[in-house]
Amino acid sequence: TPLKLIRNFSIIAHIDHGKSTLADRLILATGGLSEREMTHGQVLDNMEIEQERGITIKAQTVRLNYTASDGETYELNLMDTPGHVDFAYEVSRSLAACEGALLVVDAAQGVEAQTLANVYQSIEHDHEIVPVINKIDLPAAEPDKVKAEIEEVIGLDASDAVLASAKAGIGIGEVLEAIVQRIPPPKGDADAPLKAMLVDSWYDPYLGVVILVRVIDGTLRKGAQVKFMAAGTTHLIDRVGCFRPKIEQLNELGPGEIGFITAQIKEVAQTRVGDTITDARRPAAEALPGFKEVQPVVFCGLFPTDAADFEKLRESLGKLRLNDASFSFETESSAALGFGFRCGFLGLLHLEIIQERLMREYDLDLITTAPSVVYTMHLSHSKNEDAQTIELHNPADMPDPNRIESIEEPWIEATIYVPDEYLGPILKLCQDRRGIQKNLTYVGGRAQITYELPLNEVVFDFYDRLKSMSKGYASFDYHQIGTREGDLVKMSILVNEEPVDALSMIVHRGTAEARGRGMVERLKELIPRHLFKIPIQAAIGGKVIARETISAMRKDVTAKCYGGDATRKRKLLEKQKKGKAKMREYGSVSIPQEAFIAALRMG
Ligand code: GDP
Ligand code: MG
Repeated sequence: TPLKLIRNFSIIAHIDHGKSTLADRLILATGGLSEREMTHGQVLDNMEIEQERGITIKAQTVRLNYTASDGETYELNLMDTPGHVDFAYEVSRSLAACEGALLVVDAAQGVEAQTLANVYQSIEHDHEIVPVINKIDLPAAEPDKVKAEIEEVIGLDASDAVLASAKAGIGIGEVLEAIVQRIPPPKGDADAPLKAMLVDSWYDPYLGVVILVRVIDGTLRKGAQVKFMAAGTTHLIDRVGCFRPKIEQLNELGPGEIGFITAQIKEVAQTRVGDTITDARRPAAEALPGFKEVQPVVFCGLFPTDAADFEKLRESLGKLRLNDASFSFETESSAALGFGFRCGFLGLLHLEIIQERLMREYDLDLITTAPSVVYTMHLSHSKNEDAQTIELHNPADMPDPNRIESIEEPWIEATIYVPDEYLGPILKLCQDRRGIQKNLTYVGGRAQITYELPLNEVVFDFYDRLKSMSKGYASFDYHQIGTREGDLVKMSILVNEEPVDALSMIVHRGTAEARGRGMVERLKELIPRHLFKIPIQAAIGGKVIARETISAMRKDVTAKCYGGDATRKRKLLEKQKKGKAKMREYGSVSIPQEAFIAALRMG
């Protein structure tokens, strides 16, 4: 296809503003699918979990043929981008593959934090942005107010925003015309050596690893020998094609085009988003800019509730990793929870998605330990070891405190967008979490706040708090801004004088007491009474910073007691083996596993 007839665009939106519905409408309007095929809804969100959560996890692209009012038939490549901050790098690569974007804003909700973050990225990529005000069918729609908001907050001219209802099919023709008329065609040199960007990849049981590419220069042909410049590997291309959204095989992809290739690759881990694909015999002089290796930033332990499920968990993690090279796992053992895996994720939502898929698709019952960020520890030399710098992924592996010279922790810059009336408590929350306020502005009854925060304070129930404090109205987005030194300590939780490994965490000295107090108070509620008094303590090193005591049970209720007579206890244990209420012994205290789970859930 000649460059002037190609349009590459993505759709950016805050979650639930209608990105997927609009994408489906565009496919329908250009004949990619019939109305009947559409009734399954949200063609681009093809994983069950994505539909339910409304999150598009894997970027997919669709090629549409559209005959415009000027009589020309255009090739439109619609790139669907992942909708969440955890996948920020993937989003940035998808955006880099396009020349423009549709900015979808809900006519009743207006601009949200995620809208902002995505649109700023799009502006950074020099995109032509077409505002689409969606859901104008809703009684609460206020398109003029939203237009003004787009101009005021984002600084984009919204005077010729398209008014649409993706659900009702209103304004779809206008959207297609706007794409053709306002988004520029790609540039590229057909004669230059091949240069294509690896935008995304996923595992398909029939095709193996499928790679989504955007050709910049040259032509990507079936049968060609190509080189992945960052990975340093060469592959023979065995298929070239595009999605309409059904697969269509092609002989080649020319400059400016988006499509897929396969090359008998077995694992997505061999393909790196942002890599440059070039001709093995006639390579490009230099790779495309902006390649970045993604690294997990949040770690937690995943343990099967039933120890017998350990191998099943390993297999399931392996299967998930086939399709998601950005999470990592290795075996871990815990006195409290038995055998499990230490897993690394791109962020909290990523963690939740994997955890949910394990439970739902693989039918596993899991316990998740408190998420931890990666700490950089500078250690002095000791008798046996030299001074060194280590990365700590698990609080349980905390080195000897006497050797720690300093600890660095990751920081983020967060943007929060919230109606005025909830501002007070949210500022306090950020302040309590060691936040540094950078900016505070008001736009039409809403505040936009920018804070620098330690990631460590955000992985600990920050998002849930934010949502509940604002009745769900606050929106939140963040990106990492590097590491900073912090006064961090390991806090242990002791039950009847014995430390419970799964509950230890790294905290800031200034917030340790409050966190410790919260934890011992919760455990007091969660651990059943025994025949003796049980002290529950939070401690830093040898120093107790918070303490609660579970009083002893009176004799006459022994029959109901967990730690009671032997036959009863044995029966209980047998029952527990079958699933439910597992117990762990700590300093002769039996703790139901639910107590750990509940304590961990609450942070
Ligand atoms: P995404 O998260 O941005 O992909 O949003 P979806 O396309 O999944 O849409 C979120 C919800 O909004 C779904 O329940 C849609 O049916 C609904 N929705 C999308 N577009 C419209 C619209 O134009 N009008 C109305 N009333 N609802 C819409
Ligand atoms: Mg969606």
